[in-house]
Amino acid sequence: MDNINDLKALLAIPRDIVITTHRNPDGDAIGSSLGLYHFLNKGGHTVRIISPSEYPEAFSWMPDVEKIVIYDLDPEYSKELVDRADVIFCLDFNALDRIDKLGDLIEPTKSEKVMIDHHLYPEGFADYLLSDTTASSTCELVFDFIHMLDMAAELDVQIGECLFTGIVTDTGSFRYSTSAKLYRIVADLVELGVDDYKLQDLINNSMREKHLRLLGHCLHNRMEILEEYSTGLITLTKQDYEDFDIQRGDTEGIVNFLLKIKNVKMAAFITQQPTICKISLRSKGDFSVQEIAKRHFKGGGHQNASGGFSFQSLEATVGRFKKILPEYKEKLLAS
Ligand code: 5GP
Ligand code: MN
Repeated sequence: MDNINDLKALLAIPRDIVITTHRNPDGDAIGSSLGLYHFLNKGGHTVRIISPSEYPEAFSWMPDVEKIVIYDLDPEYSKELVDRADVIFCLDFNALDRIDKLGDLIEPTKSEKVMIDHHLYPEGFADYLLSDTTASSTCELVFDFIHMLDMAAELDVQIGECLFTGIVTDTGSFRYSTSAKLYRIVADLVELGVDDYKLQDLINNSMREKHLRLLGHCLHNRMEILEEYSTGLITLTKQDYEDFDIQRGDTEGIVNFLLKIKNVKMAAFITQQPTICKISLRSKGDFSVQEIAKRHFKGGGHQNASGGFSFQSLEATVGRFKKILPEYKEKLLAS
């Protein structure tokens, strides 16, 4: 961010600030938003977080998470907050269409917009941009941002717990997107007093019985391994959503289980939603799923974790996915 000094000056006096993050927020979206929220609160600003949709129950332990305004539940109040904000932070997303109608509210406002994100190809709407696609998580970048403001002394356990959460969830508990720099940051967080064992337990061992049964169903009845393409696929129908009482966030992480098979290089999880089919893609190593999500499913994301959607039926969406595999066969087998 080459205009950091302008932003420093802007934040030198108390401001009305809105922090927003992507639809269906994950640990990094919630962790980076709350971490920045606690930091800015300490600076005397008036801060509110607006999420386009509800956050998963698994994060209900996070400090002040209940204060997040949910656009879907409170569109009028969200508009009021956006309209009076001096500064709007956009965390963990790269394009305004990732926040749906909230994006239409934000775009025309006169507020200064700050994007902090690690997704490929950030859109150009922000006045201040901190984008690093090599970063493990937006939480890592919020930590960098606080340092860039020369305010590292303000970091505390509460901020640290929030940032640690996003780092753990976006790296799959330090299995991917790690770096020496990230481990140094985490060491700093632990030194601040972050209890890494307690948080890993809260983050990774908070499933309810129904979640584990749903996972069992996916792996036993809904998994297909396409050996010829080193690809694994799990699909869920509308009926599955009813039978297992699946709520938002309940399917988080299921796609990753496919990558536990040694020869599976790409994993796809396709679910039938009320109006669309959602597709989640994951890969190992050099094979990029970003291009597939962008070209074929109106989406995008990262090299190893991307997603998109389709307006076709579940059968047609699965059919389309299988049809594109031959095109990628060579790359899949070589990676
Ligand atoms: P997930 O599979 O967990 O829903 O998403 C994984 C990643 O893919 C997200 O972090 C996000 O970067 C990207 N992603 C998921 N869905 C979409 C989508 O509909 N559009 C775009 N542009 N990116 C998506
Ligand atoms: Mn992220």
